[in-house]
Amino acid sequence: MDAAPDIDAVADESVVVIGGGFGGLSTACYLADAGADVTLLEKNEQLGGRASRLEAEGFRFDMGPSWYLMPDVFERFFGHFGRSPEEYYTLTHLDPHYRVFWKDGDRVDVLPDMAHNRELFEAYEPGAGDALDAYLEEAERTYEIGMEHFVYEDRPRLRDYVDRDVLRYSWGLSLLGKMQGHVEGYFDHPKLQQLMQYTLVFLGGSPTNTPALYNLMSHVDFNMGVYYPDGGIGAVVDGIVELAEELGVEFVTDAEVAGIEGRYGAFAVDTAGGDRYLADIVVSNADYAHTEQALLPERKRQYTEEYWESRTFAPSAFLLYLGVEGDVPELAHHTLVLPTRWEEHFAKIFDDPAWPDDPAYYLCVPSKTDETVAPEGHSNLFALVPIAPGLEDTPELREEYREVVLDDIAENTGTELRDRIVFEETFCVEDFADRYNSYDGSALGLAHTLRQTSLFRPPHRSNAVDGLYFVGGTTTPGIGVPMCLISGGLTAERIADTI
Ligand SMILES: Cc1cc2nc3c(=O)[nH]c(=O)nc-3n(C[C@H](O)[C@H](O)[C@H](O)COP(=O)(O)OP(=O)(O)OC[C@H]3O[C@@H](n4cnc5c(N)ncnc54)[C@H](O)[C@@H]3O)c2cc1C
Repeated sequence: MDAAPDIDAVADESVVVIGGGFGGLSTACYLADAGADVTLLEKNEQLGGRASRLEAEGFRFDMGPSWYLMPDVFERFFGHFGRSPEEYYTLTHLDPHYRVFWKDGDRVDVLPDMAHNRELFEAYEPGAGDALDAYLEEAERTYEIGMEHFVYEDRPRLRDYVDRDVLRYSWGLSLLGKMQGHVEGYFDHPKLQQLMQYTLVFLGGSPTNTPALYNLMSHVDFNMGVYYPDGGIGAVVDGIVELAEELGVEFVTDAEVAGIEGRYGAFAVDTAGGDRYLADIVVSNADYAHTEQALLPERKRQYTEEYWESRTFAPSAFLLYLGVEGDVPELAHHTLVLPTRWEEHFAKIFDDPAWPDDPAYYLCVPSKTDETVAPEGHSNLFALVPIAPGLEDTPELREEYREVVLDDIAENTGTELRDRIVFEETFCVEDFADRYNSYDGSALGLAHTLRQTSLFRPPHRSNAVDGLYFVGGTTTPGIGVPMCLISGGLTAERIADTI
């Protein structure tokens, strides 16, 4: 995608966008800006998709994403419309970026200060400070080449890779091995390996199934920084909705689409409530499998049920949103709690699905940075444990697992929460499936395994229905808020190129 994608060809088209996640919001902005008449239909009562907000008893939780990474992507997005993120929300650079507790009692903080991080690495392994510099240099190179040539530029066909420019970036070939081997080439200490690999959870993968080119995530977290938008990620949703409204997008919430009929120039999109919307073009940001399997007749699907069953889906999650009396001084805004050997946890996600007995998890305490997310004298905290998609999820299992997580937090971070919880809610596999129509209750969609990266992900344009397009985490470039924003631009370009 160029800095200024040429999508003027969509002017005068009418478009229905199904789903108001970041991908749907983004593509709606690009299309409306180019002159299209855009209506966005969202199933739920609020916009933002996985970035929904839960508000109760004076607490306001971001229900999904909480790490604001890759600020350059947001600048480029708003920049396309002659705006900047600061016109819509304010960012705070977090310090520390995050804290890690290992379950052997060890604890480290990763800071924006690289001298500190080098010393930290050196303390675990002589020479690891220099190795960190070398690793991050490579990660930066991967980021720069990868973003310009593979992320902002869509390459939906194999032949798009067979040109001289692309082959010149032979870095790609060496980075198609697995993350595990790549990281071992730099660091021997398992804890240092974990620090370079935890970001894979953002991509829904594990060190043994994710290609090494995703080392670029370490450039994102160490060099570019970890930010917090005041008001939470929900403030970013509000900002993009405001921009979309300025551009003329019409939003309809509580509008679950039940069926898509027709083709380019003559679509009818029906909602469960009995309303019908007519459009020239349809873009679905709803889960890809749901759109094809539930909204289209069989002859208009590109993929079979077997195709979806054979894919590797990213983890689901057990989420525990807690309103707590008092402070939680042991925790940072972002805290990771990791077993010293985490292979078993990954195995319980990808190989042999089960609720993990010794979980690796993430704790988010935005009230450390933002006093508006909790009543005075209280903390806003959520725990996120990645678990296998499709896992059995019952109220009893959740109750049992709540105990496991609260015990683990107390034991490994010294934070005793039980007696001071004043608000509590869980969200798990069944909720992902019900609220977002997510396949198997995956939190994130298709994992970024090598066979599910780039042209191996489902395409933006349906090859079975003329005029139907897709946007969001299951298509390219993939998972995460910045990627879904980029996906919106790529889908808009694909529409302009193919109508
Ligand atoms: C717990 C969690 C933590 C995360 N943490 C981070 C993070 O820290 N940083 C980060 O960058 N990313 C994070 N992510 C990933 C990120 O949130 C997602 O990749 C991204 O938000 C997905 O956007 P999307 O465009 O794919 O749309 P989605 O968010 O999936 O939205 C799709 C929308 O379609 C709607 N829909 C579905 N079916 C229909 C229908 N039939 N009719 C109408 N509407 C329909 C859904 O209700 C939903 O609103 C996290 C995700 C989760 C779940």
